[in-house]
Amino acid sequence: MPNTNTDANLWCIVPAAGRGARFGGEIPKQYLPIGGKPMLMHTLTRLAMHPRIAGVMVVLAPKDAYWAGLGSLRGKPVRTATGGEERADSVLAGLRALREQVQDSQFILVHDAARPCVRAADITRLIELGVPAGGALLAAPVRDTLKRAGTDSRVVLTEPREARWRALTPQLFRYGELSAALEAAGGGAAITDEAMAMERAGHRPLLVEGSDDNIKVTTAADVTLAEFLLTRTAQES
Ligand code: C5P
Repeated sequence: MPNTNTDANLWCIVPAAGRGARFGGEIPKQYLPIGGKPMLMHTLTRLAMHPRIAGVMVVLAPKDAYWAGLGSLRGKPVRTATGGEERADSVLAGLRALREQVQDSQFILVHDAARPCVRAADITRLIELGVPAGGALLAAPVRDTLKRAGTDSRVVLTEPREARWRALTPQLFRYGELSAALEAAGGGAAITDEAMAMERAGHRPLLVEGSDDNIKVTTAADVTLAEFLLTRTAQES
């Protein structure tokens, strides 16, 4: 009988090994200050505060000079691993580093360092719905009309938006199944989230609707928006 892990607490892997200093500066994106605190610290604090999260495995870039060297946060263990070339390689490194901690049948979460505004209520719902479903991800339905562009930036066609969702994080899968799916997919840039590796391995992850404000901080404008959202959702979530 597989361990369905319904009540157990879960480890969360946080890929934070991106080297992109997106806004022209020196500081990697995950360390950009938001309200005076590095983005990564906001993300880790939100995760560590969640009652269902057992510990956090942060995946850092080789020779990361910015990591504060935490051993724990809010009473939860914080461990680190060294990431790879692409996001999928970093997640796989995080999984390997948890091998002693987590059994194959247990669920783990993966959450982007670049999503500091994740709400506790969304994590709770993801776990409640995702564990019985055998795997799930937070996602948001597409609300805009989608256009496909030609190389000349002119519209080729309008894509249907029905049944289209934007994949967010956290994503929740069994340790063994996700490790096998990522190994089989071979890592690299083609695998842009965990669900995609699982889909390739024949699974059909459940889409759990999450808040639109769980943004991935990518542009300078997102930093300002994240600052606003973090003050607001701190009171709500
Ligand atoms: O670049 P992008 O915004 O898609 O990255 C998503 C997350 O994956 C970020 O938290 C980033 O730090 C992480 N990442 C990683 N290892 C890489 C590339 C990205 O951990 N090689």
